[in-house]
Amino acid sequence: MNFNKTTAGTFVPDGSDLNEALERTTHLGIGAHQDDLEIFAYNGIAACYGQKDKWFSGVTVTNGAGSSRIGVYESYTDEEMIQVRADEQNKAAFVGDYSVQFQLDYNSSEVKDTQNPAATEDLTQILEKTGASIVYLHNPADKHDTHIAVLAKSIAALRKLPDDKKPQKVYGCEVWRDLDWMLDTDKSVLNCSKYENMAQSLVALYDSQISGGKRYDLATAGRRLANATYFDAHSSDDATALTWAMDLTPLVQDPTLSVKDYTLEYIDRFKADVGEKLDRLF
Ligand SMILES: [Zn+2]
Repeated sequence: MNFNKTTAGTFVPDGSDLNEALERTTHLGIGAHQDDLEIFAYNGIAACYGQKDKWFSGVTVTNGAGSSRIGVYESYTDEEMIQVRADEQNKAAFVGDYSVQFQLDYNSSEVKDTQNPAATEDLTQILEKTGASIVYLHNPADKHDTHIAVLAKSIAALRKLPDDKKPQKVYGCEVWRDLDWMLDTDKSVLNCSKYENMAQSLVALYDSQISGGKRYDLATAGRRLANATYFDAHSSDDATALTWAMDLTPLVQDPTLSVKDYTLEYIDRFKADVGEKLDRLF
């Protein structure tokens, strides 16, 4: 495959031919940074783990150059840090038995540049070749600008696909800002209860991020447990780990839909629900 960055990386953990690894892909995650996929697309990783007819593939769009560094990483240059983070992402792909892991190696500023089509072109290529039926993306109400920028490139690439090549489901998932505020009827529920040990290790192996003083491993597991427990007050917890997603499929099926209007409608329904409950009592 010809990506716009000559430094883009491709890793097939089981050593299969790349075309085979692309063709067998059924679930695809597109994230901004090394570790985002393991935080938000675990539902897809777990659905494919150990299955012969289902394969998860990952795309990490940026190189993580600007990440904070302390401890053993304190004296690392940007280039060394990029390598550490790329290695960590590939370790996750190995542990999670991914079909193929792409690292497109963009700087955050390149992805935020609305006039730069390079990342969209790369993503279109990957989407065309995988033909994945379920796609996991960042959600449009995330608070991290690079996450939203990668989402924008992903939506643009998905909208370029011919209708018969578009995925059946596209989910916008939780990382920086969760989606618990969405009405329960608006939530896509992504069960993450399977292989708790693997779920833990997939986030825990990102030592360069966790050593910086952020316990993403504990926080990710904690949020999934909290989601499962606080979802429904009246039933026992069949699932022990859930993540929420916004259904972005309509935005891909209908390229004329405004991403902003579509997202704000979720907020409007939340606002109306809070207002109605208060109107009954005050
Ligand atoms: Zn991120």
